[in-house]
Amino acid sequence: MSIDFSQNYEAPVVTSSLTPLDEGETSLRPRFLREYTGQEKAKENLAVYIEAARRRNEPLDHVLLYGPPGLGKTTLAGVIANEMGVNIRVTSGPAIEKPGDLAALLTNLNPGDILFIDEIHRLNRVVEEILYPAMEDFAIDIIVGKGPSANSIRLDLPRFTLIGATTRAGQLSSPLRDRFGVSLRLELYRTEELARIVTRSANLFGMQIDSDGAREIASRSRGTPRIANRILRRVRDYAQLYYDGVITAEAAAHALEKLEIDALGLDRIDHRMLRAIIENYGGGPVGLETLAATIGEEAVTLEDVYEPYLMQIGFLSRTPRGRCVTQLAFEHLGLHPLGQQQMKL
Ligand code: ADP
Repeated sequence: MSIDFSQNYEAPVVTSSLTPLDEGETSLRPRFLREYTGQEKAKENLAVYIEAARRRNEPLDHVLLYGPPGLGKTTLAGVIANEMGVNIRVTSGPAIEKPGDLAALLTNLNPGDILFIDEIHRLNRVVEEILYPAMEDFAIDIIVGKGPSANSIRLDLPRFTLIGATTRAGQLSSPLRDRFGVSLRLELYRTEELARIVTRSANLFGMQIDSDGAREIASRSRGTPRIANRILRRVRDYAQLYYDGVITAEAAAHALEKLEIDALGLDRIDHRMLRAIIENYGGGPVGLETLAATIGEEAVTLEDVYEPYLMQIGFLSRTPRGRCVTQLAFEHLGLHPLGQQQMKL
């Protein structure tokens, strides 16, 4: 896809899915496990599986990576390929429309190659069923001919590794989930880890950054490297124009204020969401769909992009009856739960 930057493209900074603002993101991607910051548990496990597979001279088991967008699933798939010294083919669930598309991808792999399927929960059923024997027996069944004379032929595939990534492990069918030998959950990053990522990216951009500047950006990036790098790009502009090209805490705060990102990294949509629950639904509970309709956003966006961080910082809770805001959120917004209730009486 080519993007026309002359159209003054405006994308929200917080959304953690890929936008045109992330042009060049690939140049920031770490290539080996030692450069991949954070996710210690996942890395530790992977290092063992990779080393063992290498010693046996076998491909790695199929790997499922799950967690919110922008946390480094695609990056980690590339890291695994580099560590194993094999090629990686990258595709996504929605891009594979027909069984034939998947068959073409699989039959073109070389022994040991990695096939990476992003958003694997969005594969359609017919395609998914081709994956079962491919993953388990390294073979696919192809129907040749039509009607009564149709025949099924089994086609052997090279031994390969499938890496699936999803933001929604819960939406994967159990036959698919069960075929992954390794399943790793990626967590939101800690501020110190994001500060290291931001410093590394700034160095790759050839920018000077001080530790307070890195920390300011990191603490307002909702635990997500993609958002941290995106904010860094905007701060870089301010630093170049107003702060002698150095990314300081002051330069970062200036840019973040213009971007309407608050001290905890919340943007306009977070604020609208929390305020809607408080002002329209007395603090909750309110169903996700109702909430999404109230503020005019997609329910999946709220669920995948906004909620994980709001829950992590203890601003939002999910109950069987819907979403509720917590005392902490009231305080952050400068509102009082009791005041709200009294107003309703
Ligand atoms: P996902 O596939 O989970 O949506 P990506 O792998 O595309 O996320 O990561 C988004 C960006 O964040 C990458 O381009 C990379 O620059 C950065 N990134 C992600 N994880 C890390 C990490 N652990 N260390 C350094 N940078 C990272």
